[in-house]
Amino acid sequence: MKVELVDYDKIEKIVKAARVSHGSESDGMGPSDKSLLRKLIQLRHESVFEHCAYTFKIEGVSRALLQELVRHRIASYTVRSTRFTLKDIVKNKDIEKAEDLSDFKKIVERYCVVPDLPEEALNEFYTCTAVCLKNVYKFISEYKLPNDIVKYLLPESFKTELMMSINVRSFRNFLQLRASKKALWEIRALALEMYKVIPENHHILYEDLNLPQSE
Ligand SMILES: Cc1cc2nc3c(=O)[nH]c(=O)nc-3n(C[C@H](O)[C@H](O)[C@H](O)COP(=O)(O)OP(=O)(O)OC[C@H]3O[C@@H](n4cnc5c(N)ncnc54)[C@H](O)[C@@H]3O)c2cc1C
Repeated sequence: MKVELVDYDKIEKIVKAARVSHGSESDGMGPSDKSLLRKLIQLRHESVFEHCAYTFKIEGVSRALLQELVRHRIASYTVRSTRFTLKDIVKNKDIEKAEDLSDFKKIVERYCVVPDLPEEALNEFYTCTAVCLKNVYKFISEYKLPNDIVKYLLPESFKTELMMSINVRSFRNFLQLRASKKALWEIRALALEMYKVIPENHHILYEDLNLPQSE
C-alpha cells in the first residue's frame, strides 16, 4: 500500500481554538501549549480537535479494507471508480494468456492485495484469484457484459485507491480502533502508515493512545 499526506492543518489551529475557549495566550507551541493539548485530551474536551484535519491519498488497498474503512462515518471519501479499473483489466492480454502459477502470481500481485500465507496456501490463493480475474476478463471481452454487472465477480482482495479527509478527533477514534491488534491486519497496517506520515509535531495529539513507533 502507499499512503501520501496530501494536505493538513497546522496543530496551532487547535491551540488557537482552545485559547479562545480559555481566554489565554499561546506560547508558540512551547511548554504551555503542549500542556494545554495534553489537558484537552485528559478532559476529553475533544471538539477543539475538529478544527484540524488531514487529507490522505491511499493506494493499493483491498476492497475488503475499504468496506471497513468507510464504516468510519466522520470522514470524507472519494474512491476510484471500478468502471475505470475494469477498463484496465480488459486491455491486459496477459490475463487471458495466464496459464501457470508464475503467470497467475504476476496478474494477482498487480490487481489484488496478497495476504501473508504459508507457501501452499499462497499458491492456492494465486490460482483461485487468477481464475476470478480471468473470468472478469472473459465476461467483459467475450460476453460483452457491462462493467456494472462484471464487478460482482471481483474478489475482496481487488485493489482500489481513494482520497480520505478526516479531522483529528475522528482520526483519534480511528487509530484507537484500527491500530489495535484486534483490527484486520490490513487496516491496522494502514492506520499505522497514516500515523507515520502525519507531521512529527502532531504526535502529541495521539501520545495517550500508545501507538507503536515502528513495526
Ligand atoms: C475490531 C473491530 C471489529 C469490528 N467488527 C464489526 C462487526 O463484526 N460488524 C460490524 O458491523 N462492524 C464491526 N466493526 C465496525 C465498528 O462497529 C464501527 O462501525 C467502526 O469501527 C466505525 O467506528 P465509529 O462508529 O466509532 O466511527 P465513526 O462512524 O467515524 O463515528 C465516530 C464517533 O462518532 C459518534 N457517532 C457517529 N455516528 C453516530 C450515531 N449515529 N449515533 C451516535 N453516535 C455516533 C460515535 O461516538 C462514534 O464513535 C468492527 C470494528 C473493529 C475495530
